[in-house]
Amino acid sequence: MNQYIEQTKSGLLHTYNQFPVVLERGEGAYLYDTEGKKYLDFAAGYAVSSLGYGNEELNTALKGQIDKIFHTSNLYYNTTCGRAAEDLKRVTGMDRIFFTNSGGEAVEGTLKAARKYAYKKQTGRYEFIAMKESFHGRSFGAVSVTGHDAYREPFGPLVPGVSFAEYNNLDSVRALVTDQTCAIILEPLQGEGGIHLATKEFMQGIRELCDEEGILMICDEVQCGMGRTGSMFAWQDYGIKPDIMSMAKAIGSGIPVGAFAMTEEVAQYSLEPGDHGTTYGGNPLACMAVSKTIEIFEKKNIVDHVKEIGAYLSARLHELEEECACVTGVRGKGLMQAIQITKPISEVTNAALQEGLLIIGAGADAIRFVPPLIIEKEHVDELIDKLKKVL
Ligand SMILES: *Cc1c(COP(=O)(O)O)cnc(C)c1O
Repeated sequence: MNQYIEQTKSGLLHTYNQFPVVLERGEGAYLYDTEGKKYLDFAAGYAVSSLGYGNEELNTALKGQIDKIFHTSNLYYNTTCGRAAEDLKRVTGMDRIFFTNSGGEAVEGTLKAARKYAYKKQTGRYEFIAMKESFHGRSFGAVSVTGHDAYREPFGPLVPGVSFAEYNNLDSVRALVTDQTCAIILEPLQGEGGIHLATKEFMQGIRELCDEEGILMICDEVQCGMGRTGSMFAWQDYGIKPDIMSMAKAIGSGIPVGAFAMTEEVAQYSLEPGDHGTTYGGNPLACMAVSKTIEIFEKKNIVDHVKEIGAYLSARLHELEEECACVTGVRGKGLMQAIQITKPISEVTNAALQEGLLIIGAGADAIRFVPPLIIEKEHVDELIDKLKKVL
């Protein structure tokens, strides 16, 4: 076994079942381990590294920012933070941005923002409706709205007032609404839960329900956002707009950064000085990563590229479904797709590793494909070839 694995294992709390591989460097859509073995990356470090590895323009900008300044705290203004906020406003269509260091922290912020809104409007509303099979992060608030017992059970009692509806079942959401309902939170495309896409009727129905009942709609775009589904943010394809949204994973191309955003209407009655904060959030390095990522996305028209390659991936996965008996379904959108399989997931992901392919599971029965968004058709062909051997 690789000597680095033993060294790493002895010092770390054992909270991850890691693959027996030590990654050292990357180039484009490929990663290389310490032995020099090459891997095609269809995991992107959990849908994070959208620009792939070794993007010169991004790396140069980050190095330049490090030489200038990379921490000031939120006691002072910095221009990088202001620019990143403007950039995120433009691509989200939201009015106010708060920078965080992770996705879980961004979700936490959306929940606090919603509770503060209810508090200031004196509505007495505090309940959240979340979805079964959802994933929103590991902090107490985020885990409290995560619809999966295994993530929640060991940590109770959790934040009170949370109930769980069936995804894509509007009646089941409606049945949970009370005059105490503060917000409904959902992922437009569920990631960890198994790559389940919201229907148009569901998203629009939730928007209408929220408007009728005076409830805030929160979209968690941490995984499905930032171009991954073929629109900049997944909700933008539904003809609706949430009141609050969270984002993270891909927005900084791998530099740890997240954000939550809201409309002016919510912001007016929501978090104020003293209510919420973070020491590192909005630091110049993270914000440079956000602005540069958005700049490159716009210059390269990544969103249209995802539409094109996503359609090709979908077609090739459907072919695979025809050919392999153990593939029983294809789902998802853009470059966030999955195959449903009858084989044990870890058997497949480990065999793929041997073949030089990085893939990850999603939910109980699916293998997900969340590659860097810069991949071309030839990378999809290589994926299919490798999958055929593995399956
Ligand atoms: C990954 C994820 C989170 C949590 O993000 P972290 O950066 O790991 O805290 C929250 N919501 C969704 C939808 C995610 O996929």
